[in-house]
Amino acid sequence: MRILITNDDGVYSPGILALAEVASKFGDVRIVAPDVEMSSAGHSITASRPLSYKRTPLKEIDAYRVNGTPADCVSLGVHQWEKVDIVLSGINMGSNLGNAMWHSGTLAGAKQAALFGLRGIAFSTPSTEQEPNFAVLKPWVEVVIKTLLEVPDVLLINVNLPTGMPQGIMWTRQSVRQYDGKIVAANDPMGRKHFWFTVIPLQHPEDGTDRHAVGQGYVSVTPLRLDLTDNAALAELMIKHPVDKVLFGG
Ligand code: MN
Repeated sequence: MRILITNDDGVYSPGILALAEVASKFGDVRIVAPDVEMSSAGHSITASRPLSYKRTPLKEIDAYRVNGTPADCVSLGVHQWEKVDIVLSGINMGSNLGNAMWHSGTLAGAKQAALFGLRGIAFSTPSTEQEPNFAVLKPWVEVVIKTLLEVPDVLLINVNLPTGMPQGIMWTRQSVRQYDGKIVAANDPMGRKHFWFTVIPLQHPEDGTDRHAVGQGYVSVTPLRLDLTDNAALAELMIKHPVDKVLFGG
């Protein structure tokens, strides 16, 4: 099995090496990752300049750095390495829970795989007061990969690991009730106003969600889909607001 690994923290992040080391137990591994940090780059792609692909071995692992985004790295990675079976992204230094999925470059790496019809799995863990302890998390990442390889029909998955030793693993849904992206105003040393886009931790997440599971110390595993269509709204609109007869100037 060929396993392509990317992230959005950059090729030299300890999180990507931890993920690659676990993945090595399941098949042949190659890292293709951004040469600098691309956190919060979302699913952007580089369409206005060429990309480079430079060999950068990490310990014993075959690795390449790209002057682009996580999505670029997956596109280039599957182009340069034939017959990739699965793409893993992370382990991100920072959670990607709830609405953070919209901004996440880590998840975008997995989504780009899914766009190609390949399985994509994103891994993230908090990195706030303390650095993640990857030695503790690696056996849990291994169990999650092993479990997900047994359910091959699920194309896109978002995995979040808690701080410290996990209590267990939970299937979860995305928490979208609240949004934690806030603009905070401050003054620079010259007294000029500036703004920080920051994340304020949310309180009381709903049961069954990714945010709740990680808050309780569990590994959260959320199956995702690429199709954003609101099927209930679509069905209702087609019946109650037919637009096929609407004509202009007729
Ligand atoms: Mn990141």
